Amino acid sequence: MTTVTSSTRTQVAIVGGGPAGLMLSHLLHVAGIESVVLDHRTYDEIATTHRAGILERDSVRLLVDSGASDRVLTDGHEHQGIDLRFGGESHRIDFQKYVGASCWLYPQTEVFIDLHAARTRDAGDLRYGISGAEVHEVGASSTGPRVTYLDPEGARHEVTAELVVGADGSRSICRDLVEPRTQYFREYPFAWFGVLVEAPTSAPELIYTRGEQGFALISQRTADVQRMYFQCDPSENPADWSDDRIWEQLQGRVAGPDGFRLNEGPVIDKSVLPFRSFVQTPMRHGRLLLAGDAAHTVPPTGAKGLNLALADVRVLAEVIERTVSKGEAEALDTYTDRALARVWKAQHFSYWMTTMLHQLPESTPFDERRQLGELATLVASEAGKTYLAEGYTGWPDRG
Ligand SMILES: Cc1cc2nc3c(=O)[nH]c(=O)nc-3n(C[C@H](O)[C@H](O)[C@H](O)COP(=O)(O)OP(=O)(O)OC[C@H]3O[C@@H](n4cnc5c(N)ncnc54)[C@H](O)[C@@H]3O)c2cc1C
Repeated sequence: MTTVTSSTRTQVAIVGGGPAGLMLSHLLHVAGIESVVLDHRTYDEIATTHRAGILERDSVRLLVDSGASDRVLTDGHEHQGIDLRFGGESHRIDFQKYVGASCWLYPQTEVFIDLHAARTRDAGDLRYGISGAEVHEVGASSTGPRVTYLDPEGARHEVTAELVVGADGSRSICRDLVEPRTQYFREYPFAWFGVLVEAPTSAPELIYTRGEQGFALISQRTADVQRMYFQCDPSENPADWSDDRIWEQLQGRVAGPDGFRLNEGPVIDKSVLPFRSFVQTPMRHGRLLLAGDAAHTVPPTGAKGLNLALADVRVLAEVIERTVSKGEAEALDTYTDRALARVWKAQHFSYWMTTMLHQLPESTPFDERRQLGELATLVASEAGKTYLAEGYTGWPDRG
C-alpha cells in the first residue's frame, strides 16, 4: 500500500463536490464548521457537464440567503408557469396564479460555478481531480472515520473527521457502506434524447408536450442556446442522429393546428439519458450520512433531482450543526425521516409527470386515450393545476 503523505483533521469530510457536497460545505462554513470536499472529477469537467436547469423557489432562496449566489437573480430567468401541450394545443399552468410562486431557469453548471466560487472566496478546502477515494470506520462505535484517496500525482492522503458525508452522486461508493439498507427501484422502458442547439428561444417558458409520437420538452439556456429533449428508446446511439433527423422528431412532437414551430439551428451537443426512480433508506449509518443522488434519483420530468439534493443538505447542515456545535447527538437520528418525507413526495411527482406525458411501449389505444383524458381533466381543473403548480415550484420547507 502507498504510504500516506499527508493527514488532515477536519470536522466533516465530504465525498463528492457536486451541488450537494459544495452546498453542504458552504452551509457548514456559515455555521462555523470546517469541512474538506473530495471529488474525482476536475472543476472543468463538472462546470461543462450539462444537467439540470430548473430551480424551485426554495432552492433559489437557499442560494441567495446563504450568500452563495446573487447571479441566480440577475442571470437566471424567473418562470411563472409552464405550458402543457397535447392534442396540438398549449395549456398554460400559471404558477403565480395558483400558488403565488415561481421557479427559475438557472443551469446546474452555473449553480456549481457559484458554489465553487463561494467556497473559494471563503478559503474552503476543495480537492478536485482525486482518485481511489475509500471511506473507513464509519460505524456507530467509531471514533475516527477517515477517507483516503490519491491526489492527481498518485500520492496517498488521509482526511480524518467527526462525520463523513457521501454526496457522491448516483454511482455512490458511500451508500454501499450503509448496513442494513433497503433500496427501492423503478426502471422505465424509455429514455430522453437530450440536445443543446444554437438557436433563438422558441417560447418564453418550458413546454412539456405529449404528441402522437411521444414526449418532448422544450427548454431554454440562453438567448442563443436552447436545451430540448424527446422521448427515445434507451438503446439509441446519438451518433445515428443527424441534425435533420433530430429536428424532424422535435417539430413532429410539438406540431398542431395552431401551426407552432420551433426555431431551428445547429445541434452542438447530444446524448441519451436513461432514467429511473431509486431511493435508499436509511440515509445514515453511524458517522456516515448520504445526500442527494447518492441516496435517491428521480426521472428528470419533474425537474426535482438538483432541488432534492439542495433540500437534503439544508436539513443535513442543520442536524450536523446541532450535533457538532451543540452536542445534540440525537439530531442525526432525525435526518433520514426528514429528508425522505420530501424525497417520496418528489418521487411521486416525478413518476406522475413521467407516466402522464410519455408514451409507454406496451400501451394500448385505451391507455393512450385515458392518458389524454387525464391531461384534459388536469388543465380543466383549478385543483389539478394548483396541484401541479405546488409540486413543480416545490413544497415549502416547514423546517
Ligand atoms: C445527464 C443528466 C441530466 C440531468 N438532467 C436533470 C434535469 O434536467 N433536471 C433535474 O432536476 N435533474 C437532472 N439531473 C439530475 C441532477 O443533475 C442531479 O440530481 C444532481 O446533480 C444531484 O446532485 P449531487 O450533488 O447529489 O450529485 P452529482 O451532481 O452527481 O455530484 C456528485 C459528485 O460526486 C463525485 N463523485 C462520484 N463518485 C465519487 C468518488 N468515488 N470519489 C469522489 N468523488 C466522487 C462526482 O464527480 C460528482 O461531482 C440530471 C442528471 C444527469 C446525469
